[in-house]
Amino acid sequence: MNYRNITIAGSGVLGSQIAFQTAYKGFKVFVYDINDEALEHAKDRIMKLEPYYKEDLGATEDDFRTAYERISFSSELSTAVSEADLVIEAIPEVVQIKTEFYTKLGKVAPERTIFATNSSTLLPSQFAEATGRPSKFLALHFANEIWKNNTAEVMKHPGTDNSVFEEVLEFAEAIGMVPLPLHKEQPGYILNSLLVPLLDAAQMLLLKEVADTETIDKTWMIATGAPLGPFAILDVVGINTAYNISLSKANATGKPEFEKLANLLKTKYIDQGKTGRETGEGFYKY
Ligand code: NAD
Repeated sequence: MNYRNITIAGSGVLGSQIAFQTAYKGFKVFVYDINDEALEHAKDRIMKLEPYYKEDLGATEDDFRTAYERISFSSELSTAVSEADLVIEAIPEVVQIKTEFYTKLGKVAPERTIFATNSSTLLPSQFAEATGRPSKFLALHFANEIWKNNTAEVMKHPGTDNSVFEEVLEFAEAIGMVPLPLHKEQPGYILNSLLVPLLDAAQMLLLKEVADTETIDKTWMIATGAPLGPFAILDVVGINTAYNISLSKANATGKPEFEKLANLLKTKYIDQGKTGRETGEGFYKY
């Protein structure tokens, strides 16, 4: 892997974190977003990471400034990618927006440039044709707060070149991530393929009044050695998100239990202001 110049497209929650982490590990970074206002937001977001890098990674002010100086910003896509070895896309999770972006990117990026999507729920094969270079395209999926939750799920689609897959795994390691290779496309990657069924099962136990939240969590934690149980995890995710997921499952499957679960989450938690750890109370008090 001889990448040096990395472009991050989309500088929201995840894009700004990926941009800074990549610069922090010594790469030259270009941040691309749709306009100057969005780029100003990105600069703000990145500056707000300073206390976390100091506290969690022991970074000094100098380390932070040096890393920041490796980042350039542009709202002109052709400028932002003109020297890119790798473009990491972190734009909104909307098929049409991503398809249009890849169609444009494929035309302006150098032929050698690799493209990676950070999409959480969409599969790379959905955009492979639009990129105009399916063999140089795959998914590189980060978790929020990437400097400490440092998983990098690297996932091929059927047309991804093996050498590209290997290079991106190496790159992920070079920016301080734990590289996790997925050899086949899988909705939800590894993490959500495991986590979603666990969280669903826990909520169904609660809905059926088999046991209370503490008992369910305690069982999981003691028996498996996990530091958090499913309801403590749901408090981190946020109960609004759990509610939205239940509603969409109710619509998608027509199964009444998902509607009942959404109703329980709304009346017993959300309507009482208990939306999770961020607000001080969810299934637990913080
Ligand atoms: P966000 O809404 O915070 O940021 C999106 C950014 O993309 C904004 O800065 C917006 O201005 C910009 N944008 C919009 N249209 C664009 C375009 N056409 N070209 C370039 N930039 C454009 O979103 P986010 O939470 O950072 O999510 C981005 C991607 O990362 C999604 O695919 C999401 O699934 C994935 N992801 C998010 C998380 C998370 O915890 N938020 C975790 C892992 C992966």
